Amino acid sequence: ALPVLAVIGRPNVGKSTLVNRILGRREAVVEDKPGVTRDRVSYPAEWSGTRFTLVDTGGWEVDVAGIEARVAEQAEVAIALADAVLFVVDATVGTTNTDEQVVRLLRRAGKPVVLCANKVDGPAGEADAYALWSLGLGEPYPVSALHGRGTGDLLDAVLEAL
Ligand code: GDP
Ligand code: MG
Repeated sequence: ALPVLAVIGRPNVGKSTLVNRILGRREAVVEDKPGVTRDRVSYPAEWSGTRFTLVDTGGWEVDVAGIEARVAEQAEVAIALADAVLFVVDATVGTTNTDEQVVRLLRRAGKPVVLCANKVDGPAGEADAYALWSLGLGEPYPVSALHGRGTGDLLDAVLEAL
């Protein structure tokens, strides 16, 4: 079976946008409001000749207020199923308690993690990405899933992790 890369992170950080960017087509559902992606959706993906299974996560059929509380729960399932994890943070927002919780889950699982600092649409956002070193997950890769900025370096790191 192909190695599995799970894309995790809080609602609205841009997971589905990043998945579409990696796939090179719009397949994952992107929404301005959280809660529309089904729990886990798998896609066949490829980078630099390496094939892998890409798993988009997120979206819970509960009221918006309840979503945040379930992020860690969903992340735990996705981490368990993955060979490596792509942890996405919205660099313009920074980290929350939920992110800290997910970091603890990642440490416990011991799976390789690549940290994506998303929504770095231009050079001005680089400082926001740099701040994510504080998560203790190693180098934050500054990316704009929306525009494609930085995704090549991110995917090179993913291949190292898989
Ligand atoms: P998900 O809930 O984590 O899957 O997030 P989505 O992919 O559905 O994106 C949530 C919102 O963030 C949408 O309005 C996207 O267009 C927007 N978004 C995603 N990536 C970027 C990015 O790199 N830059 C900016 N400015 N917006 C983004
Ligand atoms: Mg989504």
